[in-house]
Amino acid sequence: MPILDDLIELQKLEGIKTINLNKKDEISYIIKKISLKKTAKVKEIDNIKEEIHINEVELKDLDLSVESIRVKIKQNEAVLFSGKITSAKEVAFKSQEITNMKKHISEMEDKSLLLMETMETQQTQKKVKEQELNSINTELTTQESLLPSLIYNDEELITDLKEKIPQDILREFYYLFKDKGGYAVVSLKDNLYCGGCGVNVPGKSQLLIQKRELVRCESCHRFLYNYR
Ligand SMILES: [Zn+2]
Repeated sequence: MPILDDLIELQKLEGIKTINLNKKDEISYIIKKISLKKTAKVKEIDNIKEEIHINEVELKDLDLSVESIRVKIKQNEAVLFSGKITSAKEVAFKSQEITNMKKHISEMEDKSLLLMETMETQQTQKKVKEQELNSINTELTTQESLLPSLIYNDEELITDLKEKIPQDILREFYYLFKDKGGYAVVSLKDNLYCGGCGVNVPGKSQLLIQKRELVRCESCHRFLYNYR
């Protein structure tokens, strides 16, 4: 196979490789951004869970306090109605104490209600955030699934081709590939002009190109070929 055809093939493979590497970079960047979003969302959910837990503990404490005050009220009422207290002052005092305790219970029950309402809101928020986390995870899996197809595995073909092409030509090829945006080898336009820079190609060169000889544009120095 003429060197020219090896160069065309190499350009094709290197072109695909470049595109894949760029896509891989792009997707890796997107994955990094989604991962940051995920970390933030997980933290938000943890914070809400912590708040819910604190409220649960407080609610339990309130319930226990209410329970113990109820016991005290019962004890006081038992004493009050046992007839053992004879002093009117003491009766009044005990009654007042019971009233105070009942008032305290009512306050604590109000507080419990408020807490339960708050917790309900927090549970809803948690659910919403968990759904958002699910979407983020789906997004992440989708992007990650794109990566394996972009991991370039034609490197062996490239190595084989590179071994077939003389060093100096290879060097020139890669210089042009980099310098001319991936186009080191270009086709003749209308059999007359360089497909890279548009300069007229001399007839003598055109004949050589027909024979798949290595010819370079006098102006942009790209390698030239003709469609067969
Ligand atoms: Zn040219």
